[in-house]
Amino acid sequence: MVSSPRAPLAPTRHLTSDCQIAMIDNMLSITSALLDELVAANRILFNQGILDAFGHVSLRDPDDPEAFHLARNLAPARVTAGDIVAYRVATGEALDAAAPQGYLERAIHAGVYRARADVGAVVHSHAAALVAFSVGRHRLRPVCHMSGFLGANGPPLFDSRDHPGADADMLVRDGATAEQLSRCLGDGSVVLMRGHGATVVAPTLRRAVFRAVYARVNASLLAQALPLGDVTYLDDREARASAVHESQVDRPWELWRQQAEAMAASS
Ligand SMILES: [Zn+2]
Repeated sequence: MVSSPRAPLAPTRHLTSDCQIAMIDNMLSITSALLDELVAANRILFNQGILDAFGHVSLRDPDDPEAFHLARNLAPARVTAGDIVAYRVATGEALDAAAPQGYLERAIHAGVYRARADVGAVVHSHAAALVAFSVGRHRLRPVCHMSGFLGANGPPLFDSRDHPGADADMLVRDGATAEQLSRCLGDGSVVLMRGHGATVVAPTLRRAVFRAVYARVNASLLAQALPLGDVTYLDDREARASAVHESQVDRPWELWRQQAEAMAASS
């Protein structure tokens, strides 16, 4: 994958001169294959019901850990390679001052990348099944062998009301709130956001997509199981051991990608 020719990252239509194009090309580029993977991640997450018109997925630049790639302000199902913009981890701002408008919550991605050197990809979603477990008394603990990454005790909960600087609209749009969210995430894979959604992280893009999908699957399973009576959760040993399933991430990725492409072709 990394042997593919490198393509200019910033869409050149947003640049105003040859000088600027050269500057951007020298500052950062991304392989066309990786760009394709990020576009596929957007399509998969929409097709799997994790993202709708809102939510986003980003990829840390493999050659420059101080930059990451994220679509412009656009519904994920509509994202193409030309919509991917490079951002600075330090500020959450686009490298190209002429880049199109970004997502309001791109600070989430920058904040997590600043806090966690091990994170290579971030998914922020408003998946309904996850929101349900951010507002009730039941914790989102793992009940499925595919979701041990949640940790035996389940992910932490970020409540914007606990952070005086957070906006009442509950969006994470600034670096300080993103830092608080990252602190709540700690060294985990998922942080729930009360009445809002979840942020899922992983070392790779495919694993981030896998975790985003199976976090939602686990939430749906648990919602079905709770009315049936006492629930048996994965214990710590099982949750840790189930990480082995992520070694199989290419199998669902290829299936989900094929399904997403078929869906896009028929629409
Ligand atoms: Zn959000």
